[in-house]
Parts: sequence; C-alpha cells; structure tokens
Amino acid sequence: MKKQRLISIILCVVLAIVFTGCGKEIATNNKAKTIADASSKAGKSIDYMALVNKTHALPDDWEENLETTHFTNSVGDDVEVEKKAYDAYLKLKADLEKEKIYVDLDSACRSVEDQERIMESFTKDFGADYAKKTVAKPGYSEHHTGLALDLYLIVDGKDIVENDEMIKYTDIWEKIHSKLADYGFILRYLDGKEHITGYGYEPWHIRYIDDTKVAKLINDKGLTFEGYLKTAIDKPVKIDLGKSEQLTKEDLNDSVVQIKCQFAAWDGFELKSITYAGDEASNDEAQANKLNPDGKYTQIALFKMNFRTSKNVDGTGLEANKDYKDYEWWLGKTIKDGWGVITPSLK
Ligand SMILES: [Zn+2]
Repeated sequence: MKKQRLISIILCVVLAIVFTGCGKEIATNNKAKTIADASSKAGKSIDYMALVNKTHALPDDWEENLETTHFTNSVGDDVEVEKKAYDAYLKLKADLEKEKIYVDLDSACRSVEDQERIMESFTKDFGADYAKKTVAKPGYSEHHTGLALDLYLIVDGKDIVENDEMIKYTDIWEKIHSKLADYGFILRYLDGKEHITGYGYEPWHIRYIDDTKVAKLINDKGLTFEGYLKTAIDKPVKIDLGKSEQLTKEDLNDSVVQIKCQFAAWDGFELKSITYAGDEASNDEAQANKLNPDGKYTQIALFKMNFRTSKNVDGTGLEANKDYKDYEWWLGKTIKDGWGVITPSLK
C-alpha cells in the first residue's frame, strides 16, 4: 500500500501546518500540542458531513476542533483517528471478527507535514511533474479530517497492506462493505465513479459520517458522498409537503430525502418538484392492500413529482428524455429501516 498511502498522506498535508496533531511525527515530537488538546479547549464540534475532496478544502477551523485518538496498529505504525470515528471503527472491527474477518487501520488522519514530506519524497524520486500529478494538494485530502480510514486486511495471520494485493480479496471486502452503514461509515471511492469522486476504486478507504440512517441510504442506493450531498441537500427542488395529520415533519422530510436519493442514483435525471399527495390520497385502501398485503409497512404515503428523464432509463420503466408530471410514487415506512420508496423499483 506504500505508494497510494503516500499519495493519501500528501492530501492530508494542509491541516498539519499550524497545529499538526494527526501525524506520526507530530504525535511523537510535540505531544503537548495535539489537535485533541486544542479541540477540547475549543469545545466546538466538527461537521461530520463535511465534504473534503479535490475541489473542496478542509474547513479553516477544523484542526482546532478535532479530537483524535491515537493507537499503534499491528505492523507497529502510529495511527491517529477522530475520536467518534475510532469508537465506531472498533465496533465495526468487533462485528467483523465474529465472521472471522480481521482488519486493522493503515492510516487515518494525516497531517500537512506528512503530506509535504510525501510531496518532497515524490519530487525527489520521480520528478516534480509526477509528484504534482500523483500527490494531492495539501488541504484537499479527506484524510485531513481524521474521519477517513484506510483499512488493511489480516488474512491467515498475515498483514495484507499492499493495495495490489488487498484488492484481490473481493469476497472479504464485500462483507466489510455490507456492515459499514451499521456503524456510520460509507465506502468513499466507488468503482466506476472516478468522474465524481476524483479517485479510482479504493475498497479500503472508508469515511465516518456519524449517521447510520444516511450511511445506509448512501450504501443501499450506491451513491457517492458527493452525489448524496448535492442531491439530498444542495439541489434546488421545489418541495410542497402541505399539511398532514398522520405524518410528522420528520416523516415527510425523510421521505423527501429518499426520493431525492433515488433520483441521484439515476444518471442525468432532472428532478423538479416533490409534492405530498395528502393524507386522503395516502389512505387509499385498495392501494394499501396491493402495496402492503402483509403489513410490512407501518405507514404508506403517496408523493407526486415532476421530473425529466435522461437518455439512460435502463430498468426504470420510463421513457428516455421525457418530461413527467405528477408522477406518483408510494413510499413505505418499516420499523427497521424507516422510509423507503416502494415504487418504482430501481433495477
Ligand atoms: Zn485513504
């Protein structure tokens, strides 16, 4: 994993300059000035949904508010992780061990200094051009946040740390990925989404977002973090939720997020509006019998949306490049998973 590891480290560089706190050297040389110390003084919480990628820099006050936990991994490297992310990671790890899957952390939080060092070493070994291309700009690495974790595998007692080697264990990764959302993690760099995330597939790079519900949604719909944030939060969609006696505000908002995320999973669809069809329409007995014959859903609700499809409508049952108006979707709520779209099916 050395080469990619270096690259990631580089990304992290930005943070470290002033306070440090994440890096190995920092931890060793300057224990009195760790990020954790600074953060407990500041007492402000970090934004677990913060987006840091090649175009979004680490927020300015991040380091002073970041609290980290330090530990030594199985190969003897010092690793620094954001506190809550570390606790969640330990739970994930324990859960995996029940299935005889063993993981450890290669790296998590990386300081600016580390990143600068990597840049220097790459420049020296491979030239400035290559270094610039391969090494992330300080401040623009998710590893600066302390919320991005690189796992490695321990198979038959052997540490598997090289990327080329690790990537071969597809079955193991599949099992690991299926459990991430339960502990508030998402897989960050999905296969085939490099044009969105800026990175190729990295089964080992996971990100803590401190929200199991959203993590599950992102995971189930195969969304990128960028896609989720853009669609579920930023995208201007006209929303009319009207009034409801039977659905709480939270029910309605959750439903809207579900609908938006369903659209986010469809490349190029343009969602224009979402309207709650009302309590009366949602109480349609014939529909309830059809959609919910065994009472799996504790509630169902009808929404209508206006949208335009793209040229890729595979598996949606819709026509390409067409405007749809008042298109009806039923959503259902289950005790375990909350709200989800019942119709249409995604695949
Ligand atoms: Zn990583």
